[in-house]
Amino acid sequence: ARKRDGKNGLRMFDAGMLDAARERHEIEQFIEAGLKEDWFEAWLQPIVSLRDGQIVGFEALMRLDHPQKGLLPPGKIINIAEETGTIGRIGDRVLEKAIRHLATISKLDGTQDTYLAVNFSPLQFEFTLPHKMAALLLKHHISPHRIVVEITEAVLMLDNPEVHAVLKQLQEFGCRIALDDFGTGYSSLSYLNRFPVDIVKVDQSFTRSLSSSTGDVRRKSRMLVKGIRTISHQMGCTVVAEGIEVKEQWQLLRKLGVDYGQGYLFSRPMPISDMLTMLENESEAKTSAAI
Ligand code: C2E
Ligand code: MG
Ligand code: MG
Ligand code: MG
Repeated sequence: ARKRDGKNGLRMFDAGMLDAARERHEIEQFIEAGLKEDWFEAWLQPIVSLRDGQIVGFEALMRLDHPQKGLLPPGKIINIAEETGTIGRIGDRVLEKAIRHLATISKLDGTQDTYLAVNFSPLQFEFTLPHKMAALLLKHHISPHRIVVEITEAVLMLDNPEVHAVLKQLQEFGCRIALDDFGTGYSSLSYLNRFPVDIVKVDQSFTRSLSSSTGDVRRKSRMLVKGIRTISHQMGCTVVAEGIEVKEQWQLLRKLGVDYGQGYLFSRPMPISDMLTMLENESEAKTSAAI
């Protein structure tokens, strides 16, 4: 990144580049330390039925919790981890923690009803994944039917037969496959044809447009969501809307026939300890309402 320029033939890095390089180096070190010191966590965000707001599942969202520097969101980590090849090890950690959390929740609420959705990077679909998944589920007494593997079209875009075989194996084992951020990629619709996904997650940008201040945007996004919902249902998929922040979006999405949703309106992502407290308070509230 050195350019020939100016009197001495060299131009210094500009401050922005230096900052970016320094930040990147720092994050690489956090990742290594995080793997060594066990700072990677799986936070959980509830997914609810839009009909009645009842929790149907949880999405696991990776957080790197540095004891001094605080929380690093996945947006800062994943690209770098993919480039340096640490994403596989990180993914294994997050998957194990998420499955363990689901088992803990099941112990608390005494049911096996809720599901767990986990995000996967394209690089994680190695032939060893189905075996790893099976071993983890066995260890934590979780049925594969409760696991949803979230992929983006980047995974299907690879058009890699080995990746497809891994997806197929996971599905035959009982896991469901969700297509995340649907509608934002290059040719989302064509991906519905490439692999038989079970769940379509409508990207949060559609949810946001539903309550845009511009009438035309609101009207068009309603049509888009309705179209996606219709096609997905006809293909036998469950539809989940992301990024629900206000009641109006919930009501509209429910009217448009969307099955499930998640977003700050219902709950932010949180660590397992906070989630257990929230679930406990909810069930107490229900019990006292019944008495
Ligand atoms: P995603 O899978 O589409 O996850 C949804 C993102 O939206 C999460 O951001 C979540 O915190 C955020 N969100 C949830 N509700 C709302 C809302 O009402 N409003 C708004 N504005 N945002 C909301 P997060 O946790 O920063 O994750 C970002 C992305 O990083 C995820 O997008 C996913 O693609 C990726 N990711 C997260 N965890 C993992 C992981 O364990 N492995 C891999 N490979 N990728 C992950
Ligand atoms: Mg996701
Ligand atoms: Mg998404
Ligand atoms: Mg997203």
